[in-house]
Amino acid sequence: MTMIKCISPVNGEVYAERPAMPLELARQAVAHARLAQKSWAKRPVEERVKLVLAGVARLNEMVDEVVPELAWQMGRPVRYGGEFKGFNERSNYVAAIAADALKPIIVEESDRFERRIEREPHGVVFVIAPWNYPYMTAINTVAPALMAGNTVIIKHASQTILVGERMVRAFIEAGVPADVFQNLFLDHDTTAALIAAKSFDFINFTGSVEGGRSIERAAAGTFTGLGLELGGKDPGYVMEDADLDAAVDTLMDGATYNSGQCCCGIERIYVNESLYDAFVEKSVAWVSNYKLGNPLDPETTLGPMANKRFAATVRHQIADAVSKGAKALIDPKLFPQDDGGAYLAPQILVDVDHSMEFMREETFGPAVGIMKVKSDAEAIELMNDCQYGLTVSLWTKDAERASRIGRDLETGTVFMNRADYLDPALCWTGVKETGRGGSLSILGFHNLTRPKSYHLKKVTA
Ligand code: NAP
Repeated sequence: MTMIKCISPVNGEVYAERPAMPLELARQAVAHARLAQKSWAKRPVEERVKLVLAGVARLNEMVDEVVPELAWQMGRPVRYGGEFKGFNERSNYVAAIAADALKPIIVEESDRFERRIEREPHGVVFVIAPWNYPYMTAINTVAPALMAGNTVIIKHASQTILVGERMVRAFIEAGVPADVFQNLFLDHDTTAALIAAKSFDFINFTGSVEGGRSIERAAAGTFTGLGLELGGKDPGYVMEDADLDAAVDTLMDGATYNSGQCCCGIERIYVNESLYDAFVEKSVAWVSNYKLGNPLDPETTLGPMANKRFAATVRHQIADAVSKGAKALIDPKLFPQDDGGAYLAPQILVDVDHSMEFMREETFGPAVGIMKVKSDAEAIELMNDCQYGLTVSLWTKDAERASRIGRDLETGTVFMNRADYLDPALCWTGVKETGRGGSLSILGFHNLTRPKSYHLKKVTA
């Protein structure tokens, strides 16, 4: 029997393991989900919303277990709590708009005609979730999909193997019927076999570009709808009129929080030449304050990366950039806990350029490159010089200028004077290799349902 294992970054040992589900049992689970969907969809939307929120509330009651469990699984320091703020905010927002988002679009209601577009659930929705924000990324689809009348099967990342199990347990204990929301422990081959057999009516995949490609290949020819939320290399651009301290604070936090393992983390920063020296100096001071260490220690502000192989990628990119002329500004002596494995010191690189992998490929670690620019045009060209497009963080006092620049940017979200935040009222989406589709907002509900048109002619004459 194949075991799916979570190797803890805290100590490099197996923290949790679960047997991978054999294909035949997985097929049966999907069949149960399909059967349960019809009656789930017939319940009033208000009832589904209430049950989902009860599941969310039940998970909140588990906070004392969730927080250390996250630290063990993926290294986030316990001082930051779980992911409850965003998890609850997103759930509550989609709950508030569900009825409205799902109501029919009435085109005509007259003596002669009824013409309207109704929204129907897809059926069985499959959620494949990543480890970096394991609860928040999952809830983006799980909550609206269930509220819309779909049943959901979740397959969570091996690194956070306990998260899907815990979410489902919370929801079932809160009253969601067992077959309506199921967690399956699946290896890649079984996942691909289920997808290829057209088991699902919609799939949301959040993860790497390579993973997204595999899912798209598995789904080829099945016409299964796919939402793909993939990697990023998000830039910040600090203009000459920016609030410097606020920019340093938000962009450094965006670059390093969660050990830089955020899809919309800041990975490269372009600063107008007039602010460049001050920005770099303040950023180095900001990052030097981190305390790297065991995530279970409440004093720790920077935990290990989730897996030593992720830290190896960051080290490789930094070494490559330095060999090509980049300068590393964070003194390694400040971070003696860097063990060459999962525990990795943060880093700021200057004298970087776009010939370096570090400035173009996703780093997904607590390291950021800073470049000097002379104009908006130069910044726009550099920001677009990348195969990803998730978010961009613009720093200026001029909203009109930010909107104008935003129109020239190849990105899913344009932030001004903020970064690294997912607003549930807006559509979370990306361009280029960051994927396609969109979650949350009213559009998220549209993506988790299909339109059905009613064209009813009441008179024959
Ligand atoms: P990953 O390795 O692609 O894994 C993501 C999920 O997909 C995991 O559950 C993984 O399972 C599964 N998976 C990967 N390859 C698969 C395959 N061939 N067949 C079946 N399942 C497969 O990504 P990750 O390292 O967990 O997450 C980090 C990446 O996610 C980064 O690139 C980040 O930018 C991206 N991300 C994007 C967003 C967004 O909103 N755009 C949000 C969060 C993260 P196993 O763990 O069992 O391999």
